[in-house]
Amino acid sequence: MKSVSSKVEVFVRIRPTAHFAQNLIEYPPDGQTVNIHNRKDPRNLALNNQPSSWSFQLDGVLHHVSQEEVYARVGRRAVLGALEGYNGTVMCFGQTGAGKTYTMTGSTESYKQRGIIPRALQEVFQQVEKRCEYTFSVHLSYLEIYNETLVDLLSSPRGSSDPPARGMVVMEEPGRGVFIRGLTLHPVHSEGEALNLLFEGEMNRIIGAHALNKNSSRSHCIFTVHIESRSRTLSDAKYVTSKLNLVDLAGSERLGKTGSAGQGLKEAMYINKSLSFLEQAILALADRRRDHVPFRQTKLTYALKDALGGNCNTVLVANIYGEAAQIEETLSTLRFGSRMKRVQTHPTVNEHIDPAAQIKKLEKEVQMLKEELSIYHGLAVRPSNVYEPLSDAQVAEIQSQIISIRQLQEVFAQFKLAVEEQAAKVKAQLCQTYNLVEKKQNARSAGVKADSTDSMVETEDGAGVQRHAGPGKSKAKKYRDAITARQGKKQGAGSPVTVMPVASASRPKQVRIQTPEREQEAQEPDIQSQDTQESPPPSKEPATTDAPPPKAEAFEAFKVGQGGELNHILKENKAVLLERHARLRQLTEEVNTAKRKIDRTTAAIERYKDKRARQGQFVSAKGEPVLGEPEISLVPHLRELKAQYRQRYEALRSTTAEVNYCQHLVDQCRVRLLNEFESWYKETFRVPEEVLNVPKPEDPVQPGIGALHKSIAQAEEDQELFERLQCERLGDSPRAISFYNARQRTQKRRNSRRLSLTPV
Ligand code: ADP
Ligand code: MG
Repeated sequence: MKSVSSKVEVFVRIRPTAHFAQNLIEYPPDGQTVNIHNRKDPRNLALNNQPSSWSFQLDGVLHHVSQEEVYARVGRRAVLGALEGYNGTVMCFGQTGAGKTYTMTGSTESYKQRGIIPRALQEVFQQVEKRCEYTFSVHLSYLEIYNETLVDLLSSPRGSSDPPARGMVVMEEPGRGVFIRGLTLHPVHSEGEALNLLFEGEMNRIIGAHALNKNSSRSHCIFTVHIESRSRTLSDAKYVTSKLNLVDLAGSERLGKTGSAGQGLKEAMYINKSLSFLEQAILALADRRRDHVPFRQTKLTYALKDALGGNCNTVLVANIYGEAAQIEETLSTLRFGSRMKRVQTHPTVNEHIDPAAQIKKLEKEVQMLKEELSIYHGLAVRPSNVYEPLSDAQVAEIQSQIISIRQLQEVFAQFKLAVEEQAAKVKAQLCQTYNLVEKKQNARSAGVKADSTDSMVETEDGAGVQRHAGPGKSKAKKYRDAITARQGKKQGAGSPVTVMPVASASRPKQVRIQTPEREQEAQEPDIQSQDTQESPPPSKEPATTDAPPPKAEAFEAFKVGQGGELNHILKENKAVLLERHARLRQLTEEVNTAKRKIDRTTAAIERYKDKRARQGQFVSAKGEPVLGEPEISLVPHLRELKAQYRQRYEALRSTTAEVNYCQHLVDQCRVRLLNEFESWYKETFRVPEEVLNVPKPEDPVQPGIGALHKSIAQAEEDQELFERLQCERLGDSPRAISFYNARQRTQKRRNSRRLSLTPV
């Protein structure tokens, strides 16, 4: 993990005033020093007992500096660090009214005067848009600590009577650091959403202050941006998280000294306690000899533990008045700032491992290793009597070729082809039996001519590759031949079909049909209607274009070009299937007719029997029943009919098997044609996977979507134009619109809240 040691950065911001105490407060041109000179005011005894001048070294002095510059110098580094996975904290400390809230939140009325928090949110979402190689998830929380009570400023909207959110506890876990259990984290996807929440929290802070009769500057507020990012390009299980704390501390003046009473005294007690413990913690942190830092003494120091001296880029703004009257508090603020500057921090990228993704990755690895093992195992234990022993040269050849897992996988794929070869042989024999056109198809697709020692191997990209299957040829030779033939075809050496570029040999060859079943069906009638002989064949390698042609169109071209032979075979097989179907229908008819005749004849014989029974049965000398003339001719006729029936029935059965088989061939052929088309289409037009799968808005199969997309886009454009015009009118950048929208929405909510809070 990347870890860098750095110090807390400290800036001083002087609130602008018409009565700037030039004699007391001096900041030389180096921009990093503030000198305080005491004029020995006899009324100020406390200062009289101290040295007359102090010099404070800081990282920057901000006087008459715009909000934009303050953000650029104070906030931006922490924000950008947070996007990289470093925790960041920007904290304002100082006397009430010195400008802490102005620095942190700024004015909610003016875009130009917005403070560090809205600017940080803007920067976060601008960066999220820019860094498209990462996916970001951003959550916000807003915590208030008032009189040692934790308040969630973004819990469900609160009215005056609602009790403060309960059950929140500051906790610490190894690997997770300090966090607040029970504090709600709100997912946000845009600057606008984030500003809504910020203003919502501000409003809750103000309402809470009124409802509980508290002074809003008597509480500490921690606005936190929780960021998680994952790489889109690296499919590893790692991801980074960070917390950006934007802290507006309570006024640092010692109220106890001013003799506060009641609620004010209680507040002063808590603030004094938390701020003095904050100072103690800072002192301990700055002192390297101290190994214990009293973080847990107050909620504030515990909640800020990571932000103060740990894994964090920490920046402090010491807000001071420029007037002579506040010089005592100014001195104390500057002292706090210079102590803080000595504190060492150790920001580290918060890297995590996603257990689910890690398991998936390991499973993949195990699967790969298993495959590898099975290949080695297969090579080691193959019975030697199946193939001729390999010559040393052949073994060396294999060894020289197999240098990677991918190649081993390819060899494995070739083994699979050998199995398919056997299946094809059986099919070829069946075809001979049933007199189908399988022979031709074999040449193109299944891979074997049953009556030849030469065979065709179909590679998974659909190209037929000639090879020798003679007993003397080793598998390695066949593999080499296949590769050579493939390369030969790539160069267009009289091949009947186009093969994929040779580079594809090193890729996994498995080609899957991307076309949905319904699309295949929709294309099917075209397969039948196409006349392959009359149409001009398209060029073998259509030029690669940016926009691939519609699939239906390309398929038509494919059927008369590269897929012509296969399409022809498909048509022939279909013709045979049709012929067999017709024969099946005829045989079914004949079987049914024979059955009806048998039934009729049997019924007639039965009727004669009944008649005989009613009239009295004549019996021969041997005791056998004597039959009448018509019956004598009916019995052999029935026998003949039954024989006919059996014969037709047998023919029907075998024709049914033929039809089924033909159907299977037709299906296989059709799938292969579509498979090859898909591969060809993908290769020829270099279409990325997602383009193949995602229907385009103007796709005719989804007529409504195109129009919908258009109208949404139009509406968005109109809205953008409207917003731009508004911003131009207001003289702000177009980005200001999120700010004003959020403010307007919060204003509306505030008004409606006011209405509901007003007693009737
Ligand atoms: P704090 O939060 O420290 O109590 P505020 O930020 O609320 O103080 O500031 C008190 C007042 O002073 C506010 O009205 C604020 O607008 C104004 N103010 C403070 N700092 C500046 C500044 N740098 N420029 C302009 N106005 C300021
Ligand atoms: Mg304030």
